[in-house]
Amino acid sequence: MRCRGVVLLVVGLVLSACGDGGGTVASPRPSAGPETSQSRPPAPATTTRQAEAPVVVLDPGHNGGNATALAEINRQVPAGRGRMKPCNTTGTATDAGYPEHAFNLDVARRVGDVLAAQAVRVVYTRESDDGVGPCVDRRAAIGNEALADAVVSIHADGSSAQGSGFHVAYSDPPLNEAQGEPAQRLAGAMLASMAAEFPVADYIGEGGLSGRDDLAGLNLSERPAVLVECGNMRNAREAAAMSTPEGRQRYADAISAGILAYLRR
Ligand code: ZN
Repeated sequence: MRCRGVVLLVVGLVLSACGDGGGTVASPRPSAGPETSQSRPPAPATTTRQAEAPVVVLDPGHNGGNATALAEINRQVPAGRGRMKPCNTTGTATDAGYPEHAFNLDVARRVGDVLAAQAVRVVYTRESDDGVGPCVDRRAAIGNEALADAVVSIHADGSSAQGSGFHVAYSDPPLNEAQGEPAQRLAGAMLASMAAEFPVADYIGEGGLSGRDDLAGLNLSERPAVLVECGNMRNAREAAAMSTPEGRQRYADAISAGILAYLRR
């Protein structure tokens, strides 16, 4: 595992316990700030974090309760680049009705299990599939507050039935240093690991990559972040693969390999 550099954390920041190997660490590392220090015991002036486990934030897109909370998820939130966007969306589904939000969470959990077994600390932006949101700006904030070494949003697309393949989206043009070389390197690692197992998208992006300026989670990230569209749920062949546990494990293994390759460099 790549050794982390020394990071000085400011007063009041209390590190959460590391994962126990089950990949179920739920809460992001608290951000520095008065709201997190009120009920905490006094902390030293600085805490040195060195050679600690890398932190990966997994962001399963959408949520199962979104469709019944339209007023809430249609609320406009900051989306970066001076724009606003709905808090969240319902996502897509296969023609047989297997919903994207369920696919995203199941794949994310599988990725989390693989990473936790490799001593990576995993933080999820959501852990159930019957809630609402969180909003896209909050999802980005979770990655920022966790000081994530990598943030990976997991989605599946809903395009015309003829289209197929995966693509990896990254913020373009970058809005901060993390969105530059680090995020582009993460996108490249993800492209390589996914392309070893799946065809690149033939209907969007270029060679499996898609630079985007309209994805709030990527725009608002201050950590290296990518969004993986695993495939097209409206394509019969890919929908069939996504609808089985074995198929979802294949997506998870490829995503995990991309993350680990990035972290180890
Ligand atoms: Zn989606």
